[in-house]
Amino acid sequence: MSPDQPPSCIFCKIASGELESDIVYSDDQCVAFRDLNPQAPVHVLLVPRKHIENLNGLTPDDRGLVGALVSAAPMVAAQLGLAVDGYRVVANVGRFGGQSVDHLHLHILGGRPMRWPPG
Ligand code: AMP
Repeated sequence: MSPDQPPSCIFCKIASGELESDIVYSDDQCVAFRDLNPQAPVHVLLVPRKHIENLNGLTPDDRGLVGALVSAAPMVAAQLGLAVDGYRVVANVGRFGGQSVDHLHLHILGGRPMRWPPG
């Protein structure tokens, strides 16, 4: 466990394999797994292996990680058959953003038309 990793972080545990999940993509920096409470026919969470609370916790040292995370999103979406019709990528930040798990994650949602503005 890295020193920055809170022992109770469920997404750290999923990324390390300690907690079971339905993993759909994995590389040396990121893991994607199906959301337990899907809000669309396809709903996957893409997380960095490194524990970062949310977008506010990024530093210039994380630029490579951000590149890996963001460029993994369309790969995961394509793998799940979302590329042609499109999909939505969302990062909730903090209380007003609706964040409930304090480990940076991108929601990848697809399989139905998305509404705008979001709630
Ligand atoms: P957010 O509200 O943006 O922090 O998103 C957290 C997401 O994590 C929610 O959509 C939850 O349904 C999802 N979630 C929480 N625990 C798990 C878990 N063990 N496996 C998969 N998804 C989870």
